[in-house]
Amino acid sequence: MDFHNTNDAVTRRIKAMTDRIHYLKTNDLYFYNQPVAEMRGDAKVLVNGREMGMYASYSYLGLVGHPRINEAAKKAVDQFGTGTNGVRTLAGTLTIHNELEETIANFKHAEGAITYSSGYATNLTVVSTMMGRGDYVFSDKINHASIVDGCLMSGAEFRRFRHNDMEHLEGLLKNAPSDVAKMVIADSVFSMDGDIIDFPKVVELCKKYNAWLMIDEAHSLGVLGEKGTGIEEYFNLYDQIDIKMGTLSKTIPSVGGYVAAKKEIITYLRHASRAYIFSAALPPAQAAAANEAFKVILDEPWRIERLNQNTKQFIGGLKSMGFDTMLTETAIVPVLCGEDDAAFAMTRECQHNDVFVLPVVSPAVQEGLARLRATVTAAHDPSEIERAMDVIGEAGKKLGLIK
Ligand SMILES: *Cc1c(COP(=O)(O)O)cnc(C)c1O
Repeated sequence: MDFHNTNDAVTRRIKAMTDRIHYLKTNDLYFYNQPVAEMRGDAKVLVNGREMGMYASYSYLGLVGHPRINEAAKKAVDQFGTGTNGVRTLAGTLTIHNELEETIANFKHAEGAITYSSGYATNLTVVSTMMGRGDYVFSDKINHASIVDGCLMSGAEFRRFRHNDMEHLEGLLKNAPSDVAKMVIADSVFSMDGDIIDFPKVVELCKKYNAWLMIDEAHSLGVLGEKGTGIEEYFNLYDQIDIKMGTLSKTIPSVGGYVAAKKEIITYLRHASRAYIFSAALPPAQAAAANEAFKVILDEPWRIERLNQNTKQFIGGLKSMGFDTMLTETAIVPVLCGEDDAAFAMTRECQHNDVFVLPVVSPAVQEGLARLRATVTAAHDPSEIERAMDVIGEAGKKLGLIK
């Protein structure tokens, strides 16, 4: 490798990554970026010519390919074409965008909503638009990378509290000057561990210390609450979140991100957040698909019940085999492996037996806490889950993770 004839820091970083990936590939430990050739039924995929059970998807309610959603997307293409001719502020706003934002606002019990072209961009732009130099942001240690990046980009004082540790959060809030703007930000369901934020306590602390509250519902939308409307329904604690953020790319089978909030906040974001003003609007098909998906969630509550049953079966089964699934209570199920290489080896065993799971390793998680990060959805059949657990169990025995 020879870039510009140098061995500067950039060259060294590229080389280190190249070497690591080369090592993984030559040892048959690399399973990232595999193309899915076909979706087969609701929970199976064709990868490298083999049919595999999918246990790495965020399609929690199994809505990918839902006839009503596909139909809505096709209709939008016929009506509006495939692009949006620019940003929302200028030529890019379509009636379907406004419909989608109204649907989201209703679903999330909010006065209004705004959408962006990805969840990642939403967190980046919303945190950095709301917060600035001299303000204080308080973020859970294992919050999603997009939140961390938004906090850094904002230029605000950045304080991280130990994962779900409310005493630590209170200590940090207490230590901040009383006259500065403060915002607490957390995932509702943590994307690597699957556990749920201590929402009642966070709400209490935000009130006590006069802090804004932003919650990222990427993994609770369609998952928490009997109707699937999320964390507020789950705790029966409404009207406490200032910035209700979520994505349109997980339970909702589309792409994009949203914030639901009071209408003045939405108006502010529409005129001040750069990802809205300087990046193209959601394509018509994706906006229409998302809009229909929220309606399907409300019309088909059996999916949530099914997801809950499958989650229980999966976590219970893995635990009874002796696996450490950490503190998960949701469809994100970490299967703790320890060192990175153990997680890669577990992945290899599972994938060779047609169970599509993927590892999460450092730096995405703390060193020594590498894991399979398996997900279960409403689309899995209980017998398929049994089979997947057999495969994971055999792999665990072979690698000495369980007896
Ligand atoms: C996936 C995810 C995002 C980013 O959403 P995209 O729509 O994929 O960009 C943001 N926050 C959390 C917690 C996520 O899991």
